[in-house]
Amino acid sequence: MLLRHTPKEITERKALAVNPAKTCQPIGAMYAALGIHGCLPHSHGSQGCCAYHRSTLTRHYREPIMAATSSFTEGASVFGGQANLLQALLTMFTTYEPDIVAVHTTCLSETIGDDVNQIVKKAQKDGTIPDGKYVIHTPTPSYVGSHVTGYANMVKAMAVQMAEQTGTSNGKVNLIPGFVEPSDMAEIKRIAGMMGVESILFPDTSGIVNGPLTGKFNMYPKGGVSIEELKGTADSIGSIGLGAWAATDAVKALDTQFKVPGQVQDLPIGLLATDRFVDALRTMAGVSVPDSVTQERGQLLDVISDMQPHLYGKKVALAGDPDQLIPLVEFLVTIGMKPVHIVTGTPGKAFTKRIKEITAKFGDEINVKGPGDMFLMHQWIKNEPVDLLICNTYGKYIARDEDIPFVRHGFPILDRVGHSYFPSVGYSGGLRLLEKITGVLMDRKDRDSSEEAFELVE
Ligand code: SF4
Repeated sequence: MLLRHTPKEITERKALAVNPAKTCQPIGAMYAALGIHGCLPHSHGSQGCCAYHRSTLTRHYREPIMAATSSFTEGASVFGGQANLLQALLTMFTTYEPDIVAVHTTCLSETIGDDVNQIVKKAQKDGTIPDGKYVIHTPTPSYVGSHVTGYANMVKAMAVQMAEQTGTSNGKVNLIPGFVEPSDMAEIKRIAGMMGVESILFPDTSGIVNGPLTGKFNMYPKGGVSIEELKGTADSIGSIGLGAWAATDAVKALDTQFKVPGQVQDLPIGLLATDRFVDALRTMAGVSVPDSVTQERGQLLDVISDMQPHLYGKKVALAGDPDQLIPLVEFLVTIGMKPVHIVTGTPGKAFTKRIKEITAKFGDEINVKGPGDMFLMHQWIKNEPVDLLICNTYGKYIARDEDIPFVRHGFPILDRVGHSYFPSVGYSGGLRLLEKITGVLMDRKDRDSSEEAFELVE
């Protein structure tokens, strides 16, 4: 249903979210788990939850998403799911032969109070988990947090449960990306490679959820961080987390448990955040910034400068994840635009504070809420119209009703391709964002121009 009946008048709502700007925890945990090579994600709950999580990831990435489920029925819901998980582990390791299983919970198993740690220990003791195979696990109750929280929980489990310190440094830098596209993960690795920094990127879904069509089904596609690499994270010279919501827990865990020093940066979206990432790599690994990186930065600057007449002062509304929105809003301010309505569905007080700092020059003119929902953002737009909307596919209803140029960004994107293959991080990702933004703004200008004002050259 389109949203044309959304009222302009805003009333205070506390107990109800309408069109939430988030999805549920296990989706994030399942996505993160796919970033380990040879991993089968496992959903400890009912089949319905697992089917929803798989189908959402499948629709976004347009790839088959493999995951198993404990298949709770009435019996498990009343008496607990231990028997189901033990049977599932046996079936997975004997039939589907993963190297590692990553178990996350659902609302149901969390409400029952299943002790997954204890169940996994029992499976280890009784030989259900074969020698040389691994099971990691994390709680992901979806009545708190969002898909970003679930992602963060699974990434922390990778660090805490897989890292093994040998006492000899491997000279590598751990790179822990937030909830980003496989294309972004590949770009983060590419930038580190250009800088001459040896890195362990985890999770790494590049090649797994954006692989080639080969005509052959491969349950465990090439790509992903290897188990050996995950073990080695405890021997790295440092960790750089990219996105406070998604990566802080893993960075802290490696620091606390193995004394691997860490820092958390914003996702490298846009000019300034990419500068900070490049600088963090430079100082942590003790390398210089090569000309190839400076060249890409210069190209982005050039296009920002060329496109100023089309960008300056344009008002933007955004919804999405906090780790994405903070550097994205900073980028929009950097290029002269004016982000005026910003919501995230993921809780966390730091979000509002950071956005207000970044948009300080606009004073109190900025509407920002976390957690908020897309219904509220639509109401804000009705009160103060914008020139551009940036959010996931669900924003298309608002864009259509209000006739706003629309750039799809975030999760999920269910009606376009490209996000899996073209990054939005790094300087080249900034170029792609600029291309998309200027493309929809200039299409709109062309559409609305009178014949006399219709220009060939812009
Ligand atoms: S019951 Fe909980 S885990 Fe399952 S789909 Fe719903 S919100 Fe997600």
